[in-house]
Amino acid sequence: MTAADFVPAGATMDKLRKASLACTGCELYKGTTQTVFSKGPVGARLVFVGEQPGDIEDRRGEPFVGPAGKLLDKAVAEVGIDPAVIYTTNAVKHFKFRSAGEGKRRIHQTPDASDVSACRPWLVAEFELLSPDVVVALGATAGRALFGPSFRVTQSRGVLMPWPASAHDSAAFAHDGDDGDRESAFAMATLHPSAILRADDRDVAYAGFVADLEVAAAVLSG
Ligand code: SF4
Repeated sequence: MTAADFVPAGATMDKLRKASLACTGCELYKGTTQTVFSKGPVGARLVFVGEQPGDIEDRRGEPFVGPAGKLLDKAVAEVGIDPAVIYTTNAVKHFKFRSAGEGKRRIHQTPDASDVSACRPWLVAEFELLSPDVVVALGATAGRALFGPSFRVTQSRGVLMPWPASAHDSAAFAHDGDDGDRESAFAMATLHPSAILRADDRDVAYAGFVADLEVAAAVLSG
């Protein structure tokens, strides 16, 4: 089973969000607090796609509200992007974790290809409603979800690509709406902010992250 059985056809973003709360399209909903869908306006000019919600996001029901989200907010402010033009979502909408220790602390587990594939219908449905100028994949999982399984974020970070990224993605991430006078859209990838927090040299990693986001900021101001 996948999320496809739960995605209502022709739904607005609010209806998608509500419908996602009942999704049992894979095993990941088990033991979580809730589906964590997205935040931001449908008319956003910049879309961030992350990996999956973490422990804090699972409890709050909102993506990127933990330490990684705070670091992302800081970098966004530093490159001068208005938060009001950003839509933020994840490739996988439930927190994948394993329990450890007597307190049953929840330890993040990276979603695998089958998790991303099961949840993909939500992401595709979101992009049918969105019409961004630039899409930014945050980390390897998001990069593979958007650009295919051979995508390597470490090799291609900070590089602008056309969006949708390929003929294959054009079919998956088609947008039916009126794009007005928009000429073209772009996509790119950078590291996930949680990787910056884990880096041995956090200052260097953060500087690289900001440099990547400056590429997206230039698209918005161009
Ligand atoms: S991870 Fe995605 S497909 Fe799996 S249950 Fe959650 S919303 Fe549904």
